[in-house]
Amino acid sequence: MSQISIPVPDIGDFAGVQVIEVLVAVGEQVAENQALILLESEKATMEVPCPAAGTVFQLLVEVGATVAEGDAILLLELDTSVPDLTIPESARPAPAPAEPTRALDFDCDVAVLGSGPGGYTAAFRAADLGLKVTLIERWPSLGGVCLNVGCIPSKALLHTAHIIDHAAAMEEHGVVFGTPAIELDKLRLFKNSVVDRLTGGLVQLAKQRKVTVITGEGRFADPHTLTIKTADGEQRVNFRHAIIAAGSESVRLPGLPYEDERLMDSTGALELSEIPGRMLVIGGGIIGLEMANVYAVLGSAVDVVELTPGLLPGCDPDLVKPLQRRLQKRLDNIWLGVKVSAVDAQGEGLKVHFEGANAPEPRTYGRVLLAVGRTPNGGRIAADAAGVQVDSRGFIPVDRQMRTNVPHIFAIGDIAGQPMLAHKATHEGKVAAEVIAGEKSEFDARCIPSVVYTDPEVGWVGLTETQAKADGIAYDKGQFPWAANGRSLGMGNVDGFTKILFDKETGRCLGGAAVGPNAGELMAELGLAVEFGADAHDIGLTIHAHPTLSESVGMAAEAAAGTLTDLYLPKR
Ligand code: FAD
Repeated sequence: MSQISIPVPDIGDFAGVQVIEVLVAVGEQVAENQALILLESEKATMEVPCPAAGTVFQLLVEVGATVAEGDAILLLELDTSVPDLTIPESARPAPAPAEPTRALDFDCDVAVLGSGPGGYTAAFRAADLGLKVTLIERWPSLGGVCLNVGCIPSKALLHTAHIIDHAAAMEEHGVVFGTPAIELDKLRLFKNSVVDRLTGGLVQLAKQRKVTVITGEGRFADPHTLTIKTADGEQRVNFRHAIIAAGSESVRLPGLPYEDERLMDSTGALELSEIPGRMLVIGGGIIGLEMANVYAVLGSAVDVVELTPGLLPGCDPDLVKPLQRRLQKRLDNIWLGVKVSAVDAQGEGLKVHFEGANAPEPRTYGRVLLAVGRTPNGGRIAADAAGVQVDSRGFIPVDRQMRTNVPHIFAIGDIAGQPMLAHKATHEGKVAAEVIAGEKSEFDARCIPSVVYTDPEVGWVGLTETQAKADGIAYDKGQFPWAANGRSLGMGNVDGFTKILFDKETGRCLGGAAVGPNAGELMAELGLAVEFGADAHDIGLTIHAHPTLSESVGMAAEAAAGTLTDLYLPKR
């Protein structure tokens, strides 16, 4: 038997491409033209066919290797029945009919696991780029946490809370509304209608793009197969590429009585089954404070307990202050540096025990909301069956193209790392879809905005002052108080400010933040300034409409540029 080495054939204009799958094993008999390995370039996926029938003697490449034209990929022992390839073609006998080639029997180009903002965006973008897409979702409706039990329903309720709050505040302006009558069923219906409208819209968008949607829980069976438990039994999807967008879920603290429905996570709180007389929110982060805001305005006496010394861990303390002042009036108690040590389910309520220097005596609540963070679902999808690495916290490490350690499998959104935000997930979804379609995309955002939709709102984007100090980054700061902003005063608001950080050396905008009514909207301009590397003059010389809250961005920049006239700032 003669042995030949099979080289990578002419693969076009590529210096190096990656082996994403080895399709044969040592000892396997292969037919002429049978696919041996699968290569993936930035533009396409290619099979390397076997030039002759034979038996695989040795594999010379493995998954993940980078190869170029001419590189040997395996040693093949030629069948004695096939001609010696060293003999010129003209001198060879006529070839025997080729054996049927092993088809790569994929059901779809891309299987997307999870239909949250990351998953549905990836699925739709991939379909728009001409790929055949299957979207797998365990819940009956599309849209994931964000649309069903996260961003959207919480903001619908927060809007209601803001209106009630602002109507009450009008008393100081001489307009007195009566005490609001809250029809909880109707409010719940409104919130659900907003959710239904958006999730129903996704069904239409999937149909229009011919994305196949499978309802059921998916798990990897091997690097190219997902098995899905559907209502009609198990279904298998063989995919060429997969995008894992399985998101996250609420963190559970050990030892709490989860069987008692009065202990809620954010999903339970958003169901709005009742407005309890007394409610405890465990966790002073974004979700905890937003829900505390809603329930307090709807009539509950709300306490917030937070383990760390401050609210909104990670946010600059100066931004938290105006919110905390407002919350101190709206909420019954805010306990910082205090831990919940136990929750006893009793007939009259949930009795909560606290620990810490400022810990109160045990108290009984009608409802307790546990909002201490979210944990990624990496450990729940049998990722190991596909060879996909998952870290100890359940995150799936990815590169800038959202590729996992298995080159044809991608991960996006909450499961791919912090920050766990919907707008990060959607951008990552687009990158993954575009890379699979052969585009040269990568996730290269300089900043991802964060917004807390309380009243007042808090927003920050890019570098924070806390981070700048921790990293020793030299910066100049421009700040403008909303007490000097006409629009803010007209809204009855004297609290809050906008600040912008500029690189001390280059003058470029590194980050910005604001606290006040609708402060979140200002993150758009500040984010753009960071992305474009604007300096204080670029922002200050951009004419902002008057009177708007966005003028505070222009004026914060003018404060940094030394051109501000709306305040007197002594020369430094
Ligand atoms: P998810 O939205 O978590 O979606 C994952 C989907 O995968 C789910 O539908 C799940 O059912 C499905 N899935 C999981 N495992 C499987 C499986 N094995 N088989 C099939 N399907 C599976 N972010 C913001 O940016 N702004 C906000 O205002 C905001 N507010 C929030 C408020 C609340 C109360 C909560 C809880 C979250 C909020 N978030 C907000 C966070 C935001 O919802 C998430 O960052 C975002 O939804 C993450 O998107 P994703 O696509 O990664 O995953």
